[in-house]
Amino acid sequence: MNNFEAEEKIGNCLSIVVPCYNEEEMLPTTVDVLTELIEKMIADGRISSNSFVLFVNDGSKDRTLPMLREYAKEREHVCFVTLSANRGHQSALIAGLMEAKKYADMMISIDADLQDDVNVIPDMVDKYIAGADIVYGVRSGRKTDSFFKRTTAQMFYKLLASMGVKTVYNHADFRLMSRRAVGALSEYREKNLYIRGIIPQLGFKTDEVSYERKARTAGESKYPFRKMLALALNGITSFSTKPLQMITSIGILVLVICFAAAVYAFISYFTNDVERGWTSLILSVWFLGGVQLLSLGVIGEYIGKIYAEVKNRPLYFIEDSDMSSAGSADGE
Ligand code: UDP
Ligand code: MG
Repeated sequence: MNNFEAEEKIGNCLSIVVPCYNEEEMLPTTVDVLTELIEKMIADGRISSNSFVLFVNDGSKDRTLPMLREYAKEREHVCFVTLSANRGHQSALIAGLMEAKKYADMMISIDADLQDDVNVIPDMVDKYIAGADIVYGVRSGRKTDSFFKRTTAQMFYKLLASMGVKTVYNHADFRLMSRRAVGALSEYREKNLYIRGIIPQLGFKTDEVSYERKARTAGESKYPFRKMLALALNGITSFSTKPLQMITSIGILVLVICFAAAVYAFISYFTNDVERGWTSLILSVWFLGGVQLLSLGVIGEYIGKIYAEVKNRPLYFIEDSDMSSAGSADGE
């Protein structure tokens, strides 16, 4: 009984999960590199021989799917699932992890373009074997990104941090997760997925490996500015109700200004250099503005609470226990 958790982690079947959207140009290289890596790690005795690469076709419009069908047939260690339509990177990734969890003990997610360094995968596995449930791939720099992508990404991380969202700096979706960590992730049933924000909330023992991110070698980025912005907004609005709380603060600020304006208006009124009606008009404008913002803020507070309830996030995960001294109900 005591060894239950330990036993559960002994298995070392690895699944590398790769979301693919229109990756026909990249796929041949990706398949070669990843299967070779899997074979090498099996030979080293790091992972079990039933380990596999799981490609998730995210409703591609090019030849990705027929190619994957071929590879899955021809190659040992290659599997695929295909989604009925393009659902976006985060959903494709979740789909892959949930499928892989049925077979594998640990899962590594990586982009099809192999911009993330596959050479640190064995290190990730070693850290899993040493006991980590989550191993983050962390970029040591952003030299290969365009100036634009680099600065916008950094601004985004800073913004998230200021909104109180916990993220791992310079980490995207290149990570290893144990089956129980993926199981914990599956308890998050929200539809607005920002996986990077959820993982640090899971807890468990974590570790990281650092690597240099390369430039894309084939095909083009499937994350144009529009999608990056959507991901960023999703990250903020899924993890923070600060924007709602800001309304309350602005409301209070406006009411404070209203009192200052009142003092000014009365002084002007008694010194008699104002038009008739101006005093009451200007006071109403400030006062009503402040009251309205404050009321919106109050409603916002409740919406924030409703939002948290609706997301129905799990409250806790039990990582380990020793219940051997607890008597069972039938007195055994
Ligand atoms: N991707 C996906 N669905 C999409 C867009 C992208 O599955 O709708 C995959 C894509 O095939 C790649 C990964 O997500 O494996 C990351 O995309 P990309 O490399 O284009 O993003 P970038 O590295 O430019 O941020
Ligand atoms: Mg990429």
